Amino acid sequence: AIVVSALKEATGENRVALTPDVVSRLVKGNYEVLIEQGAGVNAFYPDQAYQDAGATLVSRDDAIKQSNLIAVINQLDATTIGQLTAGQTLIGLLAPLTDPDGIKALAKQKVTALAFELLPRTVSRAQTMDVLSSQSSVAGYKAALVAADKFSRYFPMMITAAGTAKPAKVLVLGTGVAGLQAIGTAKRLGAVVSGYDVRPASRGEVESLGATFLTTSVSGAGEGGYARQLTPEETQQQQDELAGFIAENNVIITTAQVPGRKPPLLVTQKSVDEAKPGTIFIDLAASDLGGNVASSKPNETVMTPAGAQIIGAGDMASQLPAAASDMFSKNVQAVINYVTKEEALSFDVDDDVLGELLATYNGDIISNRLRGAMN
Ligand code: NAD
Repeated sequence: AIVVSALKEATGENRVALTPDVVSRLVKGNYEVLIEQGAGVNAFYPDQAYQDAGATLVSRDDAIKQSNLIAVINQLDATTIGQLTAGQTLIGLLAPLTDPDGIKALAKQKVTALAFELLPRTVSRAQTMDVLSSQSSVAGYKAALVAADKFSRYFPMMITAAGTAKPAKVLVLGTGVAGLQAIGTAKRLGAVVSGYDVRPASRGEVESLGATFLTTSVSGAGEGGYARQLTPEETQQQQDELAGFIAENNVIITTAQVPGRKPPLLVTQKSVDEAKPGTIFIDLAASDLGGNVASSKPNETVMTPAGAQIIGAGDMASQLPAAASDMFSKNVQAVINYVTKEEALSFDVDDDVLGELLATYNGDIISNRLRGAMN
């Protein structure tokens, strides 16, 4: 049988790559499943649940040594990569575009690595494997809830004997998967919501959620339905026009990404400095490279002198760990099914999904997109 395993993630990551539900499906499909002890605890899946689902609980070393395929949420540390052996398969968010050294290390071990970031998202067969979408959707939902929690007033309009409270005004910058989920959630909480994206095509999606779509004079549709990187002049123009929208809102949730690049700066330091007391910025793009909001820091909250809060939210999906793991695990299962042929793992490098998803194949870096990014 093919041996599949999930490892315990590093501290700070609450998700787990395989849930007991998916384990029981794999076991029924004749896979053998090994789970590192404690792997699911932070997602509220105790070891016993895995045992009941038919997995064997093992040490980290055994999980690594004995599996054909290892599923992870995040890229492994260098020590663990060093323990992998030729012919093993690794699948997860391996940060191929931002951490090429990690992929090179996997290639050196002659591992076959599938990096979810490389999945071709417009191929409809790949949708069940789309971790970026499933996790963005969780993150967008959670971002709206965190915003509502941190905001010092109501989201909905409240008419009471003690007076009327105005609804909160929420602006979502970047209306891809996460942004749309944030819009839907903020709407359900009763806020007055508007959305902005550099792709004009997202207008219909924003309006269908009952939010107002805002535009600037800068338009930036790129390849494959993604945004392109703007020129410095366009960026400046966009920032100037967005400043007016930002100043009118109580809550600003930012989600803008350009695949493999530093996130675009949408909220300048000036906009941050001028934000009214009580304004909440939630930056889902916050990273060590910078984010959408000037001075946001990943997983930290910064208070401005005027009393606005900037929440650097790099790990929102990990903050809703059970739901995020459920979906991640289903995505992993879809890939496992896709690469299983007659009870063995088999990778057709000419397949339109695998040809992209494979960062390395038996130690070779075969991804064109990755080779391009590494040069
Ligand atoms: P993403 O996480 O890469 O970026 C989030 C949003 O930020 C995007 O909507 C992007 O246009 C926007 N953005 C980038 N630069 C910006 C800027 N300077 N100013 C304002 N906004 C900016 O995107 P995503 O959520 O992964 O989705 C990207 C696209 O892919 C969307 O069109 C989405 O509908 C599409 N998609 C398609 C499929 C599919 O066909 N199966 C699946 C998932 C996503």
